[in-house]
Amino acid sequence: MYQNIGRRAFLKASANSLAALALAPRRFAQSFQVAPAAKPQKVIVVGAGIAGLVAAFELMQSGHDVTVFEARMRPGGRIHTLRDEFADGLYAEAGAIDFGDAYTVLQHYISAFNLPFNEDGATEKVSGAKDVYYLNNKRYVVPSGSELDWPYALSAEERKLGLHGLWDKYVTHAAQRIGNPASAEWPNSAARELDGVTLNDFLRKQGASDAVIAVLRMTFLGEDFDHVSALQDMVWQPFFDRNKKWMNLKGGNDLLPRAFAERLGKRMHYGAALRKLTQDKDRVHLSVIRGGALEQLDADRVILAIPFSTLRNVELDDSFSAQKRAVISKLRYDSTAHVYLQSKNRFWIKQGISGFAQTDLPIRVVVNYTEAQPGPRAILGIETEGANSRLIAAMKPEERIRWSLENVTKIYPEMAENFDGGTSVVWDDEPWSLGAAAYYAPGEMTTMFPHVASVEGRVHFAGEHTSELFVMEGAARSGVRVANEISAAH
Ligand SMILES: Cc1cc2nc3c(=O)[nH]c(=O)nc-3n(C[C@H](O)[C@H](O)[C@H](O)COP(=O)(O)OP(=O)(O)OC[C@H]3O[C@@H](n4cnc5c(N)ncnc54)[C@H](O)[C@@H]3O)c2cc1C
Repeated sequence: MYQNIGRRAFLKASANSLAALALAPRRFAQSFQVAPAAKPQKVIVVGAGIAGLVAAFELMQSGHDVTVFEARMRPGGRIHTLRDEFADGLYAEAGAIDFGDAYTVLQHYISAFNLPFNEDGATEKVSGAKDVYYLNNKRYVVPSGSELDWPYALSAEERKLGLHGLWDKYVTHAAQRIGNPASAEWPNSAARELDGVTLNDFLRKQGASDAVIAVLRMTFLGEDFDHVSALQDMVWQPFFDRNKKWMNLKGGNDLLPRAFAERLGKRMHYGAALRKLTQDKDRVHLSVIRGGALEQLDADRVILAIPFSTLRNVELDDSFSAQKRAVISKLRYDSTAHVYLQSKNRFWIKQGISGFAQTDLPIRVVVNYTEAQPGPRAILGIETEGANSRLIAAMKPEERIRWSLENVTKIYPEMAENFDGGTSVVWDDEPWSLGAAAYYAPGEMTTMFPHVASVEGRVHFAGEHTSELFVMEGAARSGVRVANEISAAH
C-alpha cells in the first residue's frame, strides 16, 4: 500500500472524481490545540516515530513532564533517509516518500519548523519528461501523468473511461458508503460487506473483467488486491482524493523527525527498548533495556507509539483487556522491500524520460529517488510489497541487487553499463518495525480496528495502525489525539 503513493495516486488527477466533489477539505487546525496542563503529569512516550514525536512535542508544549524512549539510535522510525550508502552526497528514502496537501497536521509542523519541500515531479514539469511502462514484455513511453493506451482486452467503453473512470465506476461509489471509522456507530452494513472480501473479489463480484483488474492494479493499492480487506483499501480513498499535490522534504524526509527531536532535547533517550509494562490505579511501571542494563521507571501515563508487531514482544500484565491483547497479538504486518541501484549518470534525461516506470514484472515499479538532487550520478530503485517483497526478503543482499539490476535492465538497458553499486532495505528484517504496514485480511478490520486505539487504564495508544489513514498523516493525527486524551485525563 506504500508503493510510491505520490506517483501512483492517480485519484488526485481525477478532476471529476465523486469523492472529491462530495467531501470538502477538512480543517484540522481548530481541534489541534492541546489544552495547557491544569495539573502537569509525568508522561513516558515509547517510540520516536512521527506519532510518538508529535505526542511528546504537544505534551511538552502544554506543560507536561515528558520523556521519550526509542529503541533505535535515531528518531523517525519508518521515516528514514539513507544518507551514507551512496556517492556524492546523494540520499534516498527507505520509508515514507511522499506527503500531500491534505496532510494538514504533518504540514502544520513542516511549516512551523521551516522545512523546505520539493513538489513531486517538479523537474519533469519543467523538462516535459515521459514515463515508461513495461507490460507483457513490451516497453511503452508516455508523457508523465498521461494515460497509456492499455495493452489489455478492454471494451470500447472501458477504454474511454480509462483508469480514473474505471476506478470511479468500480470503487469510489462503494467507498462513499463506508462511514466514518472514528464514529461510535461504525462499522455500518456497507463497511461489514466490504470487509468480507479483497479488492479482487469485490471487483469480480461487480463483473470487472481481468483486463479492468489489470488496469486498476496499476494504482498504488495494486499489491493489496489479493490479500487485504477491500474495506481497508477503500476507507482512506476520500482522504487520498483530497490530495491534489504531492511533496517530499528537500534534503530528506528525516529532517522532520530530527526537527522534533532537536526541540525535545534531553527528553529524548535512544537505544532504550521497552521490555515490560504493568500498571495499577495510580501509576504505570516500565522495564526498559538500555546499554545492556534493565532500568525500572514509572509514570502517571504512558503512550505506546510502537507498532503492534514489536509490542507483542513486550510483556504486559493482566490489566489489559482480552480484546486489546487479541488485537496486539493478531494485527498483521505487510512486507515491503526496496532495492537501490546507483547509476553513474542520468542517461534517461537525454531520452526525455523521468526515470519512473510501472511494470508487470515482480519489481513492479522503478523509482527515480534523485529527481530533485543535483548529479551526474543518480539512484534508481525498485519498491515491492507483499509476495514480491517476500521473494526479495528471502534473497541474500548481493542477490537482491543482481536480481533487481537484471529486471531494471529490461526497461533501461543502459543501466547495465552505468550500474555503480547498490543496497537494499527489507522492512520485515528491521527489528524495531518487523514489517512495513499494519493490514487486515478479509473479515478482520470491522472486528479488530475499533479496539486498536482504545485507552487501557493509564496506557494510551498512538501510531499509524491506530488511524484509518495508514500513512504519516494518520500517525501524526494519532499523536495529537493521544496528547488530547492525556490532557483531558486527571
Ligand atoms: C517503505 C515504506 C514507504 C512508505 N511510504 C509512505 C509515503 O510515501 N507516504 C506516507 O505518508 N507514508 C508512507 N509510509 C508510512 C509511514 O512511514 C508510516 O505510516 C509512519 O511513519 C508510521 O509512524 P509511527 O510513528 O506510527 O510508527 P514508526 O515510524 O514505526 O515508529 C515507531 C517507533 O517505535 C520504536 N520502537 C519499536 N518498538 C520499540 C520498543 N519496544 N521500545 C522502544 N521503541 C520501540 C521504533 O524504533 C520506531 O522508531 C511508508 C512506510 C514504509 C515502511
